[in-house]
Amino acid sequence: MKLGCHLSIRRGYLEAARAAVRLGANAFQYFPKNPRSLSIKSPVPADAQACAAFCSEHGIVTIAHTPYPTNPAVEPGELREATIASLRNDLEIANACGSAGIVVHFGKYRGNDTLQGYKNIIQCINEALMGYTGSTMLLIENQAGEGGGMGTTFEELVQVRKLCERPELVGFCFDTCHAFASGLWPSGGADSWDRLQQEMERTGYWPALQAVHLNDSVYPREGRKDRHAPIGRGKMGREIFARMLASPVWKEKAGLPVVLETPVAARTTHEAEIRFIRELSRGNEDGCVSG
Ligand SMILES: [Zn+2]
Repeated sequence: MKLGCHLSIRRGYLEAARAAVRLGANAFQYFPKNPRSLSIKSPVPADAQACAAFCSEHGIVTIAHTPYPTNPAVEPGELREATIASLRNDLEIANACGSAGIVVHFGKYRGNDTLQGYKNIIQCINEALMGYTGSTMLLIENQAGEGGGMGTTFEELVQVRKLCERPELVGFCFDTCHAFASGLWPSGGADSWDRLQQEMERTGYWPALQAVHLNDSVYPREGRKDRHAPIGRGKMGREIFARMLASPVWKEKAGLPVVLETPVAARTTHEAEIRFIRELSRGNEDGCVSG
């Protein structure tokens, strides 16, 4: 797996990639444009291609995170048109940057007819991918369960992907904190990862898994709150991550980007946490983690 963290594009995409190298990362996530708005960034900045070339030269895998207001479950209307245009713009930028995918939260539906919410999501994804010729995928992220609890189970995610017109361009980004907060992550401590991974296999989620957001949780299991903590310092704790990261199943997922979205103190970076994660993931080879 490739490991890194979310990085700012304040100085452009290429500079974000250079920053990743300085941190000892070989993956990173970025916002393709202003994270607080659905407004379009056009044309795609010239340094996107320089970023792609730099990443391929340095063996860096990247993913883009769509802006916060992106909600594929939104009802048809003006906002939905803006959402589709924004998603397409994110895809074009990320494709120019050579990224594996754009990460999209499953979506929140505010109406009474839940089925309509799912239909909205599928329709929105279909329209965003209509006529798209890039290879960067759209990666659906599982949610923490705030506001309705949609998008928290493997069954929902797999079903939505299956019903999309171009499922080969749709994959998943698994957020560990959201899985813990929603209760998707089973209770029972360190070996819970093995049971969770078996569920991923059983439901057909595992083959379409394309990225991981690695976050501990500030709140307890099933707290339904999306608040990330540094790895090992939240309610999930170090053992769960040690077991997950050292699992032999990751050998099947060569090149999969694993990205930290954890908080860091002001004027510091994720450098130490990246080193810590590498140590945890080497557990198996060193014989520190059994079974
Ligand atoms: Zn996430």
